[in-house]
Amino acid sequence: MLETSKKLFERAQQFIPGGVNSPARAFKSVGGTPVFFEKAEGSLLTDVDGKEYIDYVGSWGPMILGHAYEPVIEAVRETAGRSTSFGAPTEVEVKMAELVRQMVPGVDKIRMVNSGTEACMSAIRVARGYTGRDKIIKFEGNYHGHGDSFLINAGSGALTLGQPSSPGVTKGTAQDTLTADFNDLNSVKQLLNEYEGEVAAIIVEPVAGNMGCIPPKKGFLPGLRELCDAHDVVLIFDEVMTGFRIAKGGAQQRYGVTADLVTYGKIIGAGLPVGAFGGRREVMDEVSPVGPVYQAGTLSGNPLAMAAGFALLSELNKNPRHYDELEEKTTYLFSGLKEVFEAHEVAASINRVGSMISVFFTGEEVIDFRTARSTDQRLFKRFFHEMLKNGVYLPPSPFESWFLANSHTELLLDDTIAAADTAIASALSE
Ligand code: PMP
Repeated sequence: MLETSKKLFERAQQFIPGGVNSPARAFKSVGGTPVFFEKAEGSLLTDVDGKEYIDYVGSWGPMILGHAYEPVIEAVRETAGRSTSFGAPTEVEVKMAELVRQMVPGVDKIRMVNSGTEACMSAIRVARGYTGRDKIIKFEGNYHGHGDSFLINAGSGALTLGQPSSPGVTKGTAQDTLTADFNDLNSVKQLLNEYEGEVAAIIVEPVAGNMGCIPPKKGFLPGLRELCDAHDVVLIFDEVMTGFRIAKGGAQQRYGVTADLVTYGKIIGAGLPVGAFGGRREVMDEVSPVGPVYQAGTLSGNPLAMAAGFALLSELNKNPRHYDELEEKTTYLFSGLKEVFEAHEVAASINRVGSMISVFFTGEEVIDFRTARSTDQRLFKRFFHEMLKNGVYLPPSPFESWFLANSHTELLLDDTIAAADTAIASALSE
């Protein structure tokens, strides 16, 4: 198993730090060799040794309708034939902005960038420019990309690698990032009172996905909205994961709370490198060239990326049944996994929102960073490798959300549940 992946990984480690171009891929927290992939279709991945896996990573989110989704591939092919980039405006950028505005509440204007990181970095710069204040509040275990301001108590790869604050982030930058507890409005109130008049923005993953999937408690998001209004603070929803996934209009629509700024990534680019930030006209008019807050990108709004994203979003917009089906499929998987873990008498807390789902091996209800950390990481590691052997590709960390796609058929879900049954039995006996 993994013969060719092992060889490639050895070669990769010679010339690429850790053999990967993004740390979450390195299998650091589960150990072993990262799987190198050759191709994928729908929810089935094929690795370089020809082994097939049912995919629950979905390129970390974009593949909501499965890999190699024909309208996306066709759009990329057609567009590529007319050049890959102009560095000048194109029609598809206009269509994309119009479509997002139609799908999402509160996005009067939107600016395309190349990654979720860029989107979040730009959003806080705009919030700072708009308010004339320096500090931001983020939540422990939330991840907003690798911008300096966010690498303080961060989730995802930063969490699993045990680097909550990265070397290279200056003390000055770190001082301007305040950290509150997810799902705890009191911790936010305290910071706002202590730093009255100094906080530009609160940035939050409305459904946390980077310490595993953790839903917002009832009242948490409306409470943040109220606090932001009371203290003249810009509310930023980081919808890089949740955008176009947990509803057509993302968390804003699902929870009925409108942020001032929203950031996107993943689905908006259908697997090509895209991010975006948008929001209220008054705030977005701070952005250059209308306003003084500088933000730019040689490849921003790239035609291939826009064509791919537009094809995917158009389908999601046209057929809201995708969201109902995703909800049903994820509930089905949830129930199946729950039964399996109960049958094996394993303490497991399974969180689910829309098509995001996470298994925490703990008896505690997982509502924040502390409870997420109570998961049995050694058991997850064994479970992960048994699942991999059984042909199921899970995110290689106990602190990531699994993503379902509409290409997960009932058969694939049943196979996954059956695999979990044998995997947990083996993991427990090790
Ligand atoms: N915000 C959230 C919520 C994310 O999940 C991620 C990536 N996983 C980012 C920001 C950063 O996006 P990117 O990796 O595209 O820079």
